Amino acid sequence: MNDMQADLAQALVLDGNAVAGLLDEIFGVDMTASPTVCVQCGREGDLATLLTFTHAPGIVLRCPACESVVLRIVQTPGAIYLDARGTLYLCLGRRLP
Ligand SMILES: [Zn+2]
Repeated sequence: MNDMQADLAQALVLDGNAVAGLLDEIFGVDMTASPTVCVQCGREGDLATLLTFTHAPGIVLRCPACESVVLRIVQTPGAIYLDARGTLYLCLGRRLP
């Protein structure tokens, strides 16, 4: 990757807040403050801190420490596919009554 390609790739990187609405649709709760633990390097941080690529085929959220894929989301007309094998767990807050 040359410097221009690297700059362009960097310009396309968002944070996890960019997919807050989609995650809310999937889980029914705000997930941006959910802790994630990277399977590869053990980094723990809120989902909102993940590097988010929305221009890939599907949406890819990567660990900011080791750049491993933490979450992948693919949307089709009839379904949403979520690959969460890059995090040890996701934490869904309960709605208070
Ligand atoms: Zn990591």
